[in-house]
Amino acid sequence: KLLVPDFPTIAYIRGDGVGEDIFPEAKRVFDSAVEKAFGGNKKIDWLRLLAGEEAFKFKENYLPDETINSISEYLLAIKGPLMTPVGESFRSINVTLRQKLDLYACVRPVEYFEGIESPMKAPEKVDMTIFRENTEDIYAGVEFATGSSEAHQLIDFLEQTLKVTAIRFPKTSAIGVKPVSIEGTKRLVESAFDYALKNGKKRLTIVHKGNIMKFTEGGFRKWAYEVAEQYPSFTKLIYDKIKKEKGKKKAEEEKAAAMQAGKIYVDDVIADNFLQQIILNPQNFEVIATLNLNGDYISDALAAQVGGIGIAPGANINYKTGHAIFEATHGTAPDIAGLNQANPSSLILSGVMMFDYLGWHEVAQTIRKALFYAFKAKECTRDLGGSLSTSEFADILIKYIKEA
Ligand code: ATP
Ligand code: MG
Repeated sequence: KLLVPDFPTIAYIRGDGVGEDIFPEAKRVFDSAVEKAFGGNKKIDWLRLLAGEEAFKFKENYLPDETINSISEYLLAIKGPLMTPVGESFRSINVTLRQKLDLYACVRPVEYFEGIESPMKAPEKVDMTIFRENTEDIYAGVEFATGSSEAHQLIDFLEQTLKVTAIRFPKTSAIGVKPVSIEGTKRLVESAFDYALKNGKKRLTIVHKGNIMKFTEGGFRKWAYEVAEQYPSFTKLIYDKIKKEKGKKKAEEEKAAAMQAGKIYVDDVIADNFLQQIILNPQNFEVIATLNLNGDYISDALAAQVGGIGIAPGANINYKTGHAIFEATHGTAPDIAGLNQANPSSLILSGVMMFDYLGWHEVAQTIRKALFYAFKAKECTRDLGGSLSTSEFADILIKYIKEA
């Protein structure tokens, strides 16, 4: 749906710490893949934006308005890691950027590359994309400290109106409240469905803890199933209904027919069971739609299955406005910053997501293949057991891109 000019302006934020090591190298890889795919006919017009330490140095502001305004204007940005300033009025630069642009979907593809060490017996079975709701849940919630007057008032209120016993709410309780809304849930789940359709995925799983939190997480489950009704789908709810009325054989037949007709199978799994299932049966999952906190746990658990922090890419997207920030998911890694040792793969794979988002699929594919060849030949940085520096690794990727 995006109208992409031949010379699109793409904003970038280099990032703090290892951002200085990985960004220039990733950029070389991106430019070489674009050149390979289009000759000189299409090209990225890179627009450097300041954020983080660099911005503070030049502008005395960790997140200058110009940076937000430019991303707002040009829609897309790609960024390295930013450190979280201590004692500032905002939680973190990353969170502020997401909030200002209302980037409600955190998208994390988890894909295994042959040659990379994994704790899984059969890591090649891991191939999923997580859609984590990015604006609600406890991240937008409030907490009241032990002994605070708000906590006391709430406890009194609960005891009086709801007849909650003092045993469940001792006077020393700290209290937390979290929002999960219909619109917040639906827009996230819609983006997961759109992605599934566009990428030929056959299964979408709703992950929640609705057995314990009936209205918040249970609401997420309910509204997600409502969204399924607007898409070519066959849900577990329908399956169960047929099974109850006409037997299991009939339910299986109808499911098979629906799958045959290209529908997406939609079910839901309780979060704790899900964390077990992704280790035991990762092949059963393709697209995941989940709440903010569950998504946080799941993203890290899944990233660890395929090589961890150095190679897990991510994006934060508002599919309605088109705004998207693609980013390395790891931190600033100050222990190896400036040493030309960091692994640029997380940022490079975020670039792959960006090119797919732009519709420049051949560019994305060329880079993905180069990574595939490099990892298969065990050509990688130290964190993955190799001996290459950041720039040597980029050189090798560029070699594979040119040979492709
Ligand atoms: P921050 O406070 O910004 O999160 P951090 O020290 O927690 O910084 P992380 O990025 O979370 O840094 O990294 C944790 C560990 O993983 C560190 O030892 C770091 O060196 C390593 N690490 C992180 N990113 C990379 C990378 N791209 N390549 C190699 N090692 C990395
Ligand atoms: Mg960290």
